[in-house]
Amino acid sequence: AASEKESMYLVSEFAQKHFSETLWRSEPGKAIGLTYFKERGFTTETIEKFGLGYCLDEWDGFTNAALKKGYKLEFLEKTGLTIVKEAGTDRQRTFDRFKARVMFPIHSMSGRVLGFGGRILTNDKKAAKYLNSPESEIYHKSKVLYGIYYAKQAIAKEDVCYLVEGYTDVIQLYQRGIHNVVASSGTALTPEQIRLIGRLTNNITVLFDGDAAGMRASLRGVDLILEQGLNVRVCTFPEGEDPDSYAKNHSYEEVKDFLENNAKDFIQFKTSLLFAETAHDPIKKAETVRDIVSSISKIPDRIKQEIYIQECARMLDVSEEVLFNTLAQNRKKEI
Ligand code: ATP
Ligand code: MN
Ligand code: MN
Ligand code: MN
Repeated sequence: AASEKESMYLVSEFAQKHFSETLWRSEPGKAIGLTYFKERGFTTETIEKFGLGYCLDEWDGFTNAALKKGYKLEFLEKTGLTIVKEAGTDRQRTFDRFKARVMFPIHSMSGRVLGFGGRILTNDKKAAKYLNSPESEIYHKSKVLYGIYYAKQAIAKEDVCYLVEGYTDVIQLYQRGIHNVVASSGTALTPEQIRLIGRLTNNITVLFDGDAAGMRASLRGVDLILEQGLNVRVCTFPEGEDPDSYAKNHSYEEVKDFLENNAKDFIQFKTSLLFAETAHDPIKKAETVRDIVSSISKIPDRIKQEIYIQECARMLDVSEEVLFNTLAQNRKKEI
């Protein structure tokens, strides 16, 4: 199994090189893929640094190139780079999973290629905008953070990690000079991903896209970060913007200032958000109180819990006593 994994790493590394060569050398790669990245504002240096690429609009151009180099179909299939149909019959056919997509390689903490995200370039509403490599022996989605290989030193040095939603958010912020940034890449945040960050810093700032739906869904995931004892701040972007678009259109100083001025303590942020929505309705407000206490109960540090209880009692206009009692009830339930 060790050599099987090694074979999967090797074919992934080949794929990364092949897709990036296709981007820089082939006519469609230059005309379609490179043009796309340049239009997004990525520089040559950035495109090279992140190993971005392009997979041609051919059924199995990549697969054939890999086979010709001696890589085995078994490992092309196991990494998900190739889809094999009617395997073992005389009608067996192979397809490139990432046909006609720009490619974002996903690296491990130590820089090995584990898998890919591929973005479609058309506005075809039926096809998924982003396609990822499937879960495999080398690519465990719940344990990987996009950008961690490039960000790890800066996360430790700055003692904070910015957590964003997507590939392009990571790349655009990095290019702007903000290097301590990683993405969960569409999946809900997992405890393993948080532990990965926790090895480098105790501070996470979550940068939400400026769309209400996305943020609501993410609030839950943030409780997981509290549970691991990390300090969480959140920062929202103006409606319709995400870290990528904001960083693309603002200078390093402007982005820095924006992050510093808008990052709020997560508990305070959630409390004021929910309070504003429910203060007028006693039943809903009671729900809010329970929801906030539930978040506070996730924090392992009792001193911090106490401080948050005092703060939230003030913000929600309820007594500290009722919050402490609710907290105590939550603790009992957990035992
Ligand atoms: P872009 O700026 O390229 O349009 P984005 O990164 O802003 O994309 P979002 O729509 O904000 O994309 O989604 C955030 C992340 O969620 C993406 O970067 C990607 O990792 C993941 N994602 C988005 N859409 C899909 C999809 N249809 N299938 C799988 N993953 C997706
Ligand atoms: Mn989004
Ligand atoms: Mn986005
Ligand atoms: Mn975007």
